[in-house]
Amino acid sequence: MVSRLELYKDCVRKLNEHEIDDAEFDTMCIFQDILKERNPLFKPNEEVDSSHIYKIYNDIEHRCEGKPLQYVLGKWDFWKYTFRVGEGVLIPRPDTETLIENVLDIVRKNNMKSPKILDLCSGSGCIAITLDKEIPQSVVYAVEKSDEAFEYLEENIKINKSDVKAVKADVLIPENADKFRDFDIIVSNPPYLTADEMQDLQKEVQAEPAEALYGGTDGLDFYRSITKIWKNSLKTGGYICYEFGMNQHDAVADISGAYTHLTLPTT
Ligand code: GLN
Repeated sequence: MVSRLELYKDCVRKLNEHEIDDAEFDTMCIFQDILKERNPLFKPNEEVDSSHIYKIYNDIEHRCEGKPLQYVLGKWDFWKYTFRVGEGVLIPRPDTETLIENVLDIVRKNNMKSPKILDLCSGSGCIAITLDKEIPQSVVYAVEKSDEAFEYLEENIKINKSDVKAVKADVLIPENADKFRDFDIIVSNPPYLTADEMQDLQKEVQAEPAEALYGGTDGLDFYRSITKIWKNSLKTGGYICYEFGMNQHDAVADISGAYTHLTLPTT
């Protein structure tokens, strides 16, 4: 018989052997997921049944191979919501919650009652769906071109009982912007890593889709194209809110500043 604590220690040891950071945190997340308990170690001596042992070791093995924890679990929390994730879709990052805060701030300060919001490069839909849930009267569209990501987007809309309108389209094709008009806010967390940064990715990040990460040689391709192509989809005085990488603030401000009616509020 194997107790929870013995199994836990063995899993942590295996992850450490494979030089996985946060071995204890990852093991705890996997235990919570498989055993369906918030604090599995509150019962350290409880026997673990063989089907659970098998599933836990299976997850630990994938984690040892460098598969991101979020893909192993198949889900991840962002803001107050849970999103399905897996190969082919970017994992929602806590940093992106800053973008949500900024958009909510704009909506509040401008007293927007039913803002029309457009999320470009939507991926899992974490931005679009969170905004839709947090601003009940909003009308939110999410644009994503990747087949795999789009499936997650649709599933996440469903499981979060959101009514975001998902549109499968490439944001870099100018004609695709034509039918989108009169938006109060465009929001986007586009790919923004540089060519150099792509050479130096952590193993787990390498498992995420390169097309969701790579923003061209200087990382700024999407800001240039999106700003140019989608500016006419905004109302006069509308806002465009981007997430961008460290050191990209001035460049992104310059790109947006070329269009005087756009405001760049993110940090
Ligand atoms: N909008 C999604 C996110 O923030 C996906 C972004 C992307 O694919 N670059 O997680």
